[in-house]
Amino acid sequence: MSATKHHKLIILGSGPAGYTAAIYAARGNLNPVVITGMEQGGQLMKTSKIANWPGDYEDVSGSELMGRMLKQVERFNAEIIMDQIYKVDFKQRPFRLFGNLDEYTCDALIIATGISAKHTGLPSEQTYLGRGVSTCATCDGFFYRDKKIAVIGGGNEAMEDALYLSKLASHVTIVHRFEKFQHETARFKQALELAKTGNITIEWNHTLEEILGNNSGVTSMKIKHTKTNASKEIGVDGIFLAIGHEPNSRIFEGQLDMKDGYICTQKKMEGNAVATNIEGVFAAGDVIDPRYRQAVVAAGSGCMAALDAKKYLMSR
Ligand code: FAD
Repeated sequence: MSATKHHKLIILGSGPAGYTAAIYAARGNLNPVVITGMEQGGQLMKTSKIANWPGDYEDVSGSELMGRMLKQVERFNAEIIMDQIYKVDFKQRPFRLFGNLDEYTCDALIIATGISAKHTGLPSEQTYLGRGVSTCATCDGFFYRDKKIAVIGGGNEAMEDALYLSKLASHVTIVHRFEKFQHETARFKQALELAKTGNITIEWNHTLEEILGNNSGVTSMKIKHTKTNASKEIGVDGIFLAIGHEPNSRIFEGQLDMKDGYICTQKKMEGNAVATNIEGVFAAGDVIDPRYRQAVVAAGSGCMAALDAKKYLMSR
């Protein structure tokens, strides 16, 4: 390990929020440093088709889009460091960051560490991730127009996904491990109604047992009854996992204000919208966003974070 390195501005994360923050900060002469984390390029690296990035009127793969963003970051001479931060100390100034490879200090910090979707842990899920298995209905639903799909989960997120997908897919099978929903809000009632008269089937008391497919992707799934252990196979073209997300914010616990793991920001009309409760620490992207979780939104808040950080650094 070398001596602690000091930087004016460090950006944690190399997804759309982190890279956009880097582009704006570099152009604003803040000499930012991007610490990439273990997933350089972020969540989009997991998808082969993006159809809603403005300006790309043809599908673009996640690796291509993030590769272009990286080139733009490098063009403005932002430094890229491949390290993963495991501990931070905001009690002292400059802020201290402890990485697997090095230690860093900075005057201002932009956190853009994103979220991680929860997975079932099935080996077949990994085999078909991005080839029929998705963790993002808003992003990938479009590709299942008039196809048969399944949504795994029975919470709010699963219901949102199922209702959204029921308008695109020919049929939606919801796989829920309990015998009823825990909530009775409008979206659950709507799903129950569509299960009676529309294109939704609910497989109560079932869990996903295995995903089956071929070289072209997913062809069916095996589900297991939670009480009888009986298995059955259902033909599907796509499987959407909606069993929750976890913001990558554990290392900030006890230092930053959070709600359900999402970092709280000030959301002020007069600027400083993405400032956290610690002056000089800003947050952007999915890690502050339990609702929208889209690349263009993450990029937008990355821009805001860079502009807020610049104002903060200039006022010191
Ligand atoms: P992320 O992209 O999650 O990046 C987080 C970054 O933080 C990573 O680089 C990671 O390495 C880094 N990091 C995490 N912890 C640490 C740490 N401790 N130290 C240092 N670095 C750290 N959105 C769309 O708009 N259109 C789509 O078509 C679309 N398709 C998608 C398909 C899939 C399969 C998935 C999973 C998501 C999709 N999304 C899509 C959503 C989109 O990927 C996210 O909204 C977006 O990536 C969020 O950007 P972000 O920069 O906030 O975080």
